[in-house]
Amino acid sequence: MLIYRIPKKQSIIFPGSHCESCKKAIPIYQNIPIISYILLRGKCSRCGAKIHWHHLLVEIITPLLFLGLFFRYGLHDFRFYKYILLASFLIPIFFIDAINQIIPHVLSIPLLISGIILAIIPGNDVGIVNALLTGVIVFSLLLLLAWAYQKLRGVEGLGGGDIWLLTGLAIYFGLTGIPYIFLLSALMGIIYFLIFVKDKSKPFAYGTFIAVAAIIWSVIGEDTIFNLLSFL
Ligand SMILES: [Zn+2]
Repeated sequence: MLIYRIPKKQSIIFPGSHCESCKKAIPIYQNIPIISYILLRGKCSRCGAKIHWHHLLVEIITPLLFLGLFFRYGLHDFRFYKYILLASFLIPIFFIDAINQIIPHVLSIPLLISGIILAIIPGNDVGIVNALLTGVIVFSLLLLLAWAYQKLRGVEGLGGGDIWLLTGLAIYFGLTGIPYIFLLSALMGIIYFLIFVKDKSKPFAYGTFIAVAAIIWSVIGEDTIFNLLSFL
């Protein structure tokens, strides 16, 4: 719902779920994730308009990811709740950027603020000093990078949405975590760019790779890498 409505600047509360084609309200029993999509065979029960498969994909990815976080951290680790909240921002950001090539501020700014609030809570792996410091460093560096690129090439190299998203993630992951997000997202972005982007002068949705990198990193986590390194 967020993925569909936010880029269109529609309210995310009113009206309730409805068919975009015939405006029929979707009753609760036809709005059960995955099950309803299969029972309705991906169509509106009144007018037969197709329901996009993106909906089904989101409904499959979200619980799988939450389950992955559960097996990774369990219910007693603060990071389980922290990363569930983060994923709830990153999943819509991923799809919105992939489809519309924008990262809406109504998602990236609350993500950033939620990271600061979480950093205040005792038991968080990233404390408030670390969170704020990393946020300021990342934001300044990216701003400088974007400015320099614009100056040298005369075109925008890094979108404002990307800068806010990466700053929010810097707050979530702290000084020791954020470099991996950069590395991972850049690596995936470069591979995608070289193989799949035909027109190399056109901009592409880097935010999708940032979102995927952060999700991968939240499931794998720093300690896995450190354990692996010390094992090696
Ligand atoms: Zn309909």
